[in-house]
Amino acid sequence: MSMSRRNFLKTTLGVGIGAGMLGLGASLLPTTAAHAALTTREMYVFGTLVNLGAEGDAAHAQHTLDAIEQRFLLMNRDWHAWKAGELSTLNAALADGRSMAVSDELASLLRGARDAAQASGDLFNPALGKLIALWDFQSDVQQRGEPPAAQEIAALCTSAPRMSDLRIEPQKDGRQMVSSLNPDVRIDLGGYAKGVALDWALDHLAAEGLHNAVVNLGGNLAIAGQRDGRPWHIGVRHPQGEGVIAAIDAQGREAIVTSGTYERFREWDGQRYPHIIDPRSGRPATHVVSATVIHADAAWADAAATALVVAGTQDWPEIAARMGITQVMVIDAEGGVGMTAVMAPRVSFVGARPARVDVV
Ligand code: FAD
Ligand code: MG
Repeated sequence: MSMSRRNFLKTTLGVGIGAGMLGLGASLLPTTAAHAALTTREMYVFGTLVNLGAEGDAAHAQHTLDAIEQRFLLMNRDWHAWKAGELSTLNAALADGRSMAVSDELASLLRGARDAAQASGDLFNPALGKLIALWDFQSDVQQRGEPPAAQEIAALCTSAPRMSDLRIEPQKDGRQMVSSLNPDVRIDLGGYAKGVALDWALDHLAAEGLHNAVVNLGGNLAIAGQRDGRPWHIGVRHPQGEGVIAAIDAQGREAIVTSGTYERFREWDGQRYPHIIDPRSGRPATHVVSATVIHADAAWADAAATALVVAGTQDWPEIAARMGITQVMVIDAEGGVGMTAVMAPRVSFVGARPARVDVV
Protein backbone atom coordinates (compact mmCIF):
# COMPACT_ATOMS: atom_id res chain seq x y z
CA MET A 1 0.00 0.00 0.00
CA SER A 2 1.36 3.39 -0.92
CA MET A 3 1.23 4.95 2.52
CA SER A 4 3.40 7.79 1.27
CA ARG A 5 0.66 8.92 -1.05
CA ARG A 6 -2.22 8.40 1.31
CA ASN A 7 -0.71 9.46 4.63
CA PHE A 8 -2.75 12.60 4.67
CA LEU A 9 -5.55 14.01 6.72
CA LYS A 10 -7.89 16.46 5.08
CA THR A 11 -8.90 17.67 8.49
CA THR A 12 -6.66 17.65 11.51
CA LEU A 13 -7.14 18.27 15.18
CA GLY A 14 -5.49 20.79 17.42
CA VAL A 15 -2.47 19.66 19.44
CA GLY A 16 -4.42 20.31 22.60
CA ILE A 17 -6.53 17.22 22.10
CA GLY A 18 -3.46 15.02 22.05
CA ALA A 19 -0.72 15.08 19.46
CA GLY A 20 -0.79 11.28 19.39
CA MET A 21 -4.15 11.51 17.66
CA LEU A 22 -2.63 12.96 14.57
CA GLY A 23 0.10 10.48 13.93
CA LEU A 24 1.17 12.78 11.12
CA GLY A 25 3.25 15.45 12.71
CA ALA A 26 2.20 18.59 14.45
CA SER A 27 -1.06 20.32 13.88
CA LEU A 28 -0.85 23.97 13.03
CA LEU A 29 -3.77 24.82 15.25
CA PRO A 30 -2.86 26.54 18.50
CA THR A 31 -4.78 25.18 21.44
CA THR A 32 -4.05 25.15 25.12
CA ALA A 33 -3.23 21.86 26.82
CA ALA A 34 -6.22 19.74 27.72
CA HIS A 35 -6.54 18.12 31.14
CA ALA A 36 -9.11 15.40 30.55
CA ALA A 37 -7.33 12.30 29.23
CA LEU A 38 -8.16 11.15 25.73
CA THR A 39 -7.92 7.46 24.95
CA THR A 40 -6.80 7.15 21.35
CA ARG A 41 -6.44 4.54 18.64
CA GLU A 42 -4.81 4.66 15.25
CA MET A 43 -5.33 2.10 12.50
CA TYR A 44 -5.21 1.75 8.75
CA VAL A 45 -8.55 0.83 7.21
CA PHE A 46 -10.72 1.99 4.25
CA GLY A 47 -7.42 2.63 2.46
CA THR A 48 -6.60 5.47 4.83
CA LEU A 49 -5.34 6.39 8.26
CA VAL A 50 -8.05 6.24 10.93
CA ASN A 51 -7.87 7.96 14.32
CA LEU A 52 -10.30 7.46 17.17
CA GLY A 53 -10.39 9.27 20.49
CA ALA A 54 -12.70 9.28 23.50
CA GLU A 55 -12.70 10.94 26.88
CA GLY A 56 -13.77 8.91 29.90
CA ASP A 57 -12.62 5.86 31.82
CA ALA A 58 -9.57 4.61 29.93
CA ALA A 59 -10.25 0.89 30.24
CA HIS A 60 -13.85 1.29 29.10
CA ALA A 61 -12.77 3.58 26.26
CA GLN A 62 -10.10 1.08 25.11
CA HIS A 63 -12.67 -1.70 25.09
CA THR A 64 -15.08 0.44 23.06
CA LEU A 65 -12.39 1.47 20.58
CA ASP A 66 -11.51 -2.24 20.17
CA ALA A 67 -15.11 -2.93 19.18
CA ILE A 68 -15.12 -0.04 16.70
CA GLU A 69 -11.86 -1.22 15.16
CA GLN A 70 -13.27 -4.72 14.70
CA ARG A 71 -16.46 -3.37 13.15
CA PHE A 72 -14.50 -1.10 10.79
CA LEU A 73 -12.49 -4.10 9.59
CA LEU A 74 -15.72 -5.95 8.78
CA MET A 75 -17.17 -2.90 6.99
CA ASN A 76 -13.93 -2.60 5.03
CA ARG A 77 -14.27 -6.21 3.85
CA ASP A 78 -18.02 -6.21 3.22
CA TRP A 79 -18.19 -2.85 1.43
CA HIS A 80 -14.96 -2.98 -0.56
CA ALA A 81 -15.41 -2.12 -4.24
CA TRP A 82 -12.55 -4.21 -5.61
CA LYS A 83 -11.55 -6.81 -3.02
CA ALA A 84 -13.46 -9.98 -2.09
CA GLY A 85 -16.47 -9.34 0.15
CA GLU A 86 -20.23 -8.94 0.07
CA LEU A 87 -20.28 -5.88 -2.21
CA SER A 88 -17.89 -7.46 -4.71
CA THR A 89 -20.07 -10.56 -4.77
CA LEU A 90 -23.10 -8.36 -5.42
CA ASN A 91 -21.28 -6.50 -8.20
CA ALA A 92 -20.37 -9.82 -9.83
CA ALA A 93 -24.04 -10.88 -9.66
CA LEU A 94 -25.20 -7.58 -11.21
CA ALA A 95 -22.61 -8.00 -13.98
CA ASP A 96 -24.17 -11.39 -14.76
CA GLY A 97 -27.70 -9.97 -14.68
CA ARG A 98 -28.52 -11.98 -11.55
CA SER A 99 -30.23 -10.82 -8.36
CA MET A 100 -28.67 -11.53 -4.97
CA ALA A 101 -29.87 -11.63 -1.38
CA VAL A 102 -27.81 -9.24 0.74
CA SER A 103 -27.49 -8.53 4.46
CA ASP A 104 -29.75 -5.95 6.09
CA GLU A 105 -26.68 -3.73 6.62
CA LEU A 106 -25.78 -3.68 2.94
CA ALA A 107 -29.42 -3.21 1.92
CA SER A 108 -29.78 -0.18 4.18
CA LEU A 109 -26.44 1.21 3.00
CA LEU A 110 -27.64 0.92 -0.62
CA ARG A 111 -30.97 2.55 0.21
CA GLY A 112 -29.22 5.43 1.94
CA ALA A 113 -26.84 5.88 -1.00
CA ARG A 114 -29.79 5.77 -3.39
CA ASP A 115 -31.61 8.51 -1.46
CA ALA A 116 -28.48 10.68 -1.46
CA ALA A 117 -27.94 10.09 -5.18
CA GLN A 118 -31.51 11.13 -5.92
CA ALA A 119 -31.24 14.27 -3.77
CA SER A 120 -28.01 15.25 -5.55
CA GLY A 121 -29.55 14.92 -9.01
CA ASP A 122 -27.26 11.88 -9.49
CA LEU A 123 -24.09 13.96 -9.28
CA PHE A 124 -23.28 11.73 -6.33
CA ASN A 125 -23.58 8.45 -8.18
CA PRO A 126 -22.15 5.35 -6.51
CA ALA A 127 -23.50 3.20 -9.38
CA LEU A 128 -20.53 4.48 -11.42
CA GLY A 129 -18.20 1.63 -10.42
CA LYS A 130 -17.49 0.67 -14.03
CA LEU A 131 -16.34 4.20 -14.90
CA ILE A 132 -14.29 4.46 -11.72
CA ALA A 133 -12.62 1.15 -12.59
CA LEU A 134 -12.14 2.30 -16.19
CA TRP A 135 -10.17 5.27 -14.88
CA ASP A 136 -8.20 2.83 -12.66
CA PHE A 137 -9.21 4.41 -9.39
CA GLN A 138 -10.17 1.10 -7.82
CA SER A 139 -6.58 0.58 -6.84
CA ASP A 140 -4.16 0.96 -3.94
CA VAL A 141 -1.57 2.72 -6.04
CA GLN A 142 -1.45 5.87 -8.08
CA GLN A 143 -1.98 5.23 -11.77
CA ARG A 144 0.17 6.75 -14.46
CA GLY A 145 -1.32 5.54 -17.72
CA GLU A 146 -3.03 7.22 -20.59
CA PRO A 147 -6.67 8.13 -19.83
CA PRO A 148 -9.26 5.62 -21.05
CA ALA A 149 -10.43 5.71 -24.66
CA ALA A 150 -13.13 8.28 -25.42
CA GLN A 151 -15.44 5.62 -26.90
CA GLU A 152 -15.32 3.54 -23.73
CA ILE A 153 -16.18 6.59 -21.62
CA ALA A 154 -18.95 7.59 -24.03
CA ALA A 155 -20.46 4.09 -23.96
CA LEU A 156 -20.80 4.21 -20.17
CA CYS A 157 -22.22 7.75 -20.27
CA THR A 158 -24.84 6.60 -22.77
CA SER A 159 -25.74 3.60 -20.66
CA ALA A 160 -25.90 5.99 -17.66
CA PRO A 161 -25.95 3.57 -14.71
CA ARG A 162 -27.53 5.15 -11.64
CA MET A 163 -28.79 4.13 -8.22
CA SER A 164 -32.44 4.36 -9.32
CA ASP A 165 -31.71 1.34 -11.57
CA LEU A 166 -31.34 -0.78 -8.43
CA ARG A 167 -34.22 -2.82 -7.07
CA ILE A 168 -33.93 -3.60 -3.35
CA GLU A 169 -36.88 -5.74 -2.38
CA PRO A 170 -37.63 -7.43 0.94
CA GLN A 171 -38.59 -11.08 0.41
CA LYS A 172 -41.15 -13.08 2.42
CA ASP A 173 -38.29 -14.80 4.25
CA GLY A 174 -37.00 -11.38 5.39
CA ARG A 175 -34.00 -11.35 3.06
CA GLN A 176 -33.34 -8.31 0.88
CA MET A 177 -33.05 -9.10 -2.81
CA VAL A 178 -31.01 -6.72 -4.96
CA SER A 179 -31.09 -6.57 -8.75
CA SER A 180 -30.44 -3.96 -11.42
CA LEU A 181 -32.41 -2.83 -14.44
CA ASN A 182 -29.15 -1.65 -16.00
CA PRO A 183 -26.38 -4.22 -16.58
CA ASP A 184 -23.72 -1.49 -16.27
CA VAL A 185 -24.48 -0.73 -12.61
CA ARG A 186 -21.50 -1.52 -10.35
CA ILE A 187 -21.56 -0.14 -6.84
CA ASP A 188 -18.56 1.81 -5.52
CA LEU A 189 -19.17 3.23 -2.06
CA GLY A 190 -15.84 5.10 -1.83
CA GLY A 191 -17.74 8.40 -1.64
CA TYR A 192 -20.20 7.27 1.04
CA ALA A 193 -19.22 4.30 3.21
CA LYS A 194 -16.76 6.22 5.39
CA GLY A 195 -19.61 8.57 6.32
CA VAL A 196 -21.75 5.59 7.32
CA ALA A 197 -18.83 4.27 9.38
CA LEU A 198 -18.52 7.65 11.14
CA ASP A 199 -22.21 7.63 12.07
CA TRP A 200 -21.99 4.06 13.33
CA ALA A 201 -18.92 4.80 15.43
CA LEU A 202 -20.48 7.86 17.12
CA ASP A 203 -23.69 5.90 17.78
CA HIS A 204 -21.67 3.12 19.35
CA LEU A 205 -19.59 5.51 21.47
CA ALA A 206 -22.79 7.19 22.71
CA ALA A 207 -24.41 3.83 23.48
CA GLU A 208 -21.33 3.05 25.59
CA GLY A 209 -21.73 6.32 27.47
CA LEU A 210 -18.74 7.98 25.76
CA HIS A 211 -20.21 11.34 24.82
CA ASN A 212 -17.01 13.29 24.14
CA ALA A 213 -15.34 11.62 21.19
CA VAL A 214 -13.78 12.07 17.79
CA VAL A 215 -13.52 9.76 14.78
CA ASN A 216 -11.30 10.72 11.86
CA LEU A 217 -11.28 8.60 8.71
CA GLY A 218 -8.53 10.11 6.60
CA GLY A 219 -9.82 13.63 7.08
CA ASN A 220 -13.51 12.78 7.10
CA LEU A 221 -14.19 13.58 10.69
CA ALA A 222 -17.06 13.44 13.16
CA ILE A 223 -17.12 14.66 16.72
CA ALA A 224 -19.44 14.31 19.68
CA GLY A 225 -19.67 16.54 22.72
CA GLN A 226 -16.65 18.62 23.64
CA ARG A 227 -12.95 18.31 24.31
CA ASP A 228 -12.14 19.08 27.94
CA GLY A 229 -15.20 21.31 28.25
CA ARG A 230 -14.46 23.31 25.12
CA PRO A 231 -15.32 22.85 21.45
CA TRP A 232 -13.21 20.49 19.34
CA HIS A 233 -10.73 22.58 17.36
CA ILE A 234 -10.45 21.33 13.78
CA GLY A 235 -8.27 22.33 10.86
CA VAL A 236 -9.22 21.89 7.21
CA ARG A 237 -6.22 21.04 5.06
CA HIS A 238 -5.11 23.44 2.37
CA PRO A 239 -5.74 21.82 -1.02
CA GLN A 240 -2.51 23.32 -2.34
CA GLY A 241 0.23 22.48 0.13
CA GLU A 242 0.51 20.64 3.39
CA GLY A 243 -0.79 23.23 5.84
CA VAL A 244 -4.20 24.11 7.20
CA ILE A 245 -6.35 26.65 5.37
CA ALA A 246 -9.03 27.14 7.99
CA ALA A 247 -9.93 26.33 11.58
CA ILE A 248 -13.43 25.39 12.66
CA ASP A 249 -14.73 24.83 16.18
CA ALA A 250 -17.32 22.12 16.57
CA GLN A 251 -19.32 20.63 19.44
CA GLY A 252 -22.39 18.50 19.95
CA ARG A 253 -22.70 15.99 17.19
CA GLU A 254 -21.27 17.09 13.87
CA ALA A 255 -19.49 15.62 10.89
CA ILE A 256 -16.95 17.72 9.00
CA VAL A 257 -16.37 15.93 5.73
CA THR A 258 -14.07 17.02 2.93
CA SER A 259 -13.95 15.69 -0.62
CA GLY A 260 -10.89 16.74 -2.53
CA THR A 261 -9.29 16.16 -5.88
CA TYR A 262 -5.75 16.85 -4.67
CA GLU A 263 -4.51 13.60 -3.20
CA ARG A 264 -5.96 10.86 -5.36
CA PHE A 265 -5.44 11.26 -9.07
CA ARG A 266 -3.78 9.73 -12.08
CA GLU A 267 -1.11 11.53 -14.05
CA TRP A 268 -0.42 11.46 -17.76
CA ASP A 269 1.52 13.83 -19.93
CA GLY A 270 1.87 16.39 -17.16
CA GLN A 271 -1.84 16.47 -16.49
CA ARG A 272 -3.69 15.31 -13.39
CA TYR A 273 -6.94 13.37 -13.62
CA PRO A 274 -8.54 13.29 -10.16
CA HIS A 275 -10.68 10.47 -8.80
CA ILE A 276 -14.10 12.12 -8.55
CA ILE A 277 -15.94 11.47 -11.80
CA ASP A 278 -18.61 13.73 -13.25
CA PRO A 279 -21.32 11.26 -14.30
CA ARG A 280 -22.41 13.59 -17.12
CA SER A 281 -19.06 13.59 -18.94
CA GLY A 282 -17.57 10.39 -17.54
CA ARG A 283 -14.45 12.44 -16.82
CA PRO A 284 -12.84 13.72 -13.63
CA ALA A 285 -14.33 16.82 -12.02
CA THR A 286 -11.65 19.51 -11.84
CA HIS A 287 -13.17 22.94 -11.12
CA VAL A 288 -13.79 22.50 -7.39
CA VAL A 289 -10.66 21.09 -5.75
CA SER A 290 -12.09 20.76 -2.24
CA ALA A 291 -15.58 20.77 -0.74
CA THR A 292 -16.08 20.73 3.03
CA VAL A 293 -19.52 20.04 4.46
CA ILE A 294 -20.65 20.24 8.10
CA HIS A 295 -23.79 18.29 8.88
CA ALA A 296 -25.16 16.17 11.73
CA ASP A 297 -25.44 13.07 9.51
CA ALA A 298 -21.95 12.02 8.37
CA ALA A 299 -23.14 9.69 5.59
CA TRP A 300 -25.24 12.46 4.07
CA ALA A 301 -22.32 14.88 4.45
CA ASP A 302 -19.99 12.42 2.68
CA ALA A 303 -22.37 12.04 -0.26
CA ALA A 304 -22.93 15.80 -0.41
CA ALA A 305 -19.22 16.69 -0.35
CA THR A 306 -18.62 14.39 -3.33
CA ALA A 307 -21.66 15.82 -5.17
CA LEU A 308 -20.50 19.41 -4.60
CA VAL A 309 -17.09 18.70 -6.14
CA VAL A 310 -18.94 17.38 -9.21
CA ALA A 311 -21.43 20.27 -9.22
CA GLY A 312 -18.61 22.75 -9.74
CA THR A 313 -18.12 26.42 -8.97
CA GLN A 314 -21.44 27.64 -10.39
CA ASP A 315 -23.89 24.96 -9.32
CA TRP A 316 -22.71 23.87 -5.87
CA PRO A 317 -25.09 26.20 -3.96
CA GLU A 318 -28.10 24.76 -5.79
CA ILE A 319 -27.08 21.15 -5.15
CA ALA A 320 -26.31 21.92 -1.49
CA ALA A 321 -29.79 23.44 -1.13
CA ARG A 322 -31.40 20.43 -2.79
CA MET A 323 -29.63 18.17 -0.31
CA GLY A 324 -30.59 20.31 2.68
CA ILE A 325 -26.94 21.16 3.40
CA THR A 326 -26.48 24.66 4.84
CA GLN A 327 -22.78 24.61 5.84
CA VAL A 328 -20.39 24.39 2.91
CA MET A 329 -16.95 25.69 2.02
CA VAL A 330 -15.63 25.04 -1.50
CA ILE A 331 -12.21 25.92 -2.86
CA ASP A 332 -11.75 26.26 -6.60
CA ALA A 333 -8.76 25.52 -8.80
CA GLU A 334 -7.64 29.19 -8.61
CA GLY A 335 -7.70 29.17 -4.80
CA GLY A 336 -10.96 31.11 -4.51
CA VAL A 337 -13.22 30.19 -1.63
CA GLY A 338 -17.02 29.99 -1.68
CA MET A 339 -19.05 29.57 1.48
CA THR A 340 -22.65 29.52 2.54
CA ALA A 341 -23.82 32.28 4.88
CA VAL A 342 -24.25 29.75 7.72
CA MET A 343 -20.72 28.42 7.26
CA ALA A 344 -18.92 31.76 6.98
CA PRO A 345 -19.00 32.77 10.69
CA ARG A 346 -17.61 29.36 11.69
CA VAL A 347 -14.51 29.53 9.52
CA SER A 348 -11.28 31.22 10.69
CA PHE A 349 -8.67 31.33 7.97
CA VAL A 350 -5.20 30.29 9.06
CA GLY A 351 -2.37 32.26 7.51
CA ALA A 352 -2.98 34.47 4.49
CA ARG A 353 -6.65 35.06 3.74
CA PRO A 354 -7.56 33.61 0.32
CA ALA A 355 -7.56 36.18 -2.49
CA ARG A 356 -11.28 35.66 -3.11
CA VAL A 357 -13.90 34.71 -0.56
CA ASP A 358 -17.51 34.69 -1.74
CA VAL A 359 -20.37 34.13 0.67
CA VAL A 360 -23.49 32.96 -1.14
P1 FAD B 1 -15.07 11.13 -1.74
O1 FAD B 1 -15.37 12.29 -2.60
O2 FAD B 1 -15.93 10.94 -0.56
O3 FAD B 1 -15.19 9.82 -2.63
C1 FAD B 1 -14.61 9.72 -3.89
C2 FAD B 1 -14.65 8.28 -4.29
O4 FAD B 1 -16.00 7.91 -4.61
C3 FAD B 1 -13.82 7.99 -5.51
O5 FAD B 1 -12.50 7.59 -5.17
C4 FAD B 1 -14.61 6.88 -6.15
O6 FAD B 1 -14.34 5.66 -5.48
C5 FAD B 1 -16.05 7.27 -5.85
N1 FAD B 1 -16.63 8.24 -6.80
C6 FAD B 1 -16.02 8.91 -7.84
N2 FAD B 1 -16.90 9.71 -8.46
C7 FAD B 1 -18.08 9.58 -7.81
C8 FAD B 1 -19.37 10.17 -7.98
N3 FAD B 1 -19.63 11.08 -8.94
N4 FAD B 1 -20.34 9.79 -7.13
C9 FAD B 1 -20.10 8.88 -6.15
N5 FAD B 1 -18.91 8.30 -5.93
C10 FAD B 1 -17.90 8.64 -6.75
N6 FAD B 1 -8.40 2.96 -0.93
C11 FAD B 1 -7.25 2.32 -1.19
O7 FAD B 1 -6.34 2.91 -1.75
N7 FAD B 1 -7.08 1.00 -0.82
C12 FAD B 1 -8.06 0.29 -0.22
O8 FAD B 1 -7.89 -0.88 0.11
C13 FAD B 1 -9.30 0.95 0.05
N8 FAD B 1 -10.32 0.29 0.64
C14 FAD B 1 -11.52 0.93 0.86
C15 FAD B 1 -12.57 0.20 1.44
C16 FAD B 1 -13.79 0.80 1.66
C17 FAD B 1 -14.90 0.02 2.26
C18 FAD B 1 -13.96 2.18 1.32
C19 FAD B 1 -15.27 2.86 1.58
C20 FAD B 1 -12.93 2.90 0.77
C21 FAD B 1 -11.69 2.28 0.53
N9 FAD B 1 -10.62 2.98 -0.07
C22 FAD B 1 -9.44 2.32 -0.34
C23 FAD B 1 -10.69 4.43 -0.37
C24 FAD B 1 -11.49 4.73 -1.60
O9 FAD B 1 -11.05 3.95 -2.63
C25 FAD B 1 -11.42 6.20 -1.97
O10 FAD B 1 -10.13 6.63 -2.12
C26 FAD B 1 -11.93 7.01 -0.94
O11 FAD B 1 -13.12 6.47 -0.48
C27 FAD B 1 -12.10 8.43 -1.44
O12 FAD B 1 -12.76 9.09 -0.46
P2 FAD B 1 -12.69 10.60 -0.22
O13 FAD B 1 -13.32 10.83 1.09
O14 FAD B 1 -11.32 11.09 -0.47
O15 FAD B 1 -13.53 11.21 -1.40
MG1 MG C 1 -17.90 11.60 -0.23
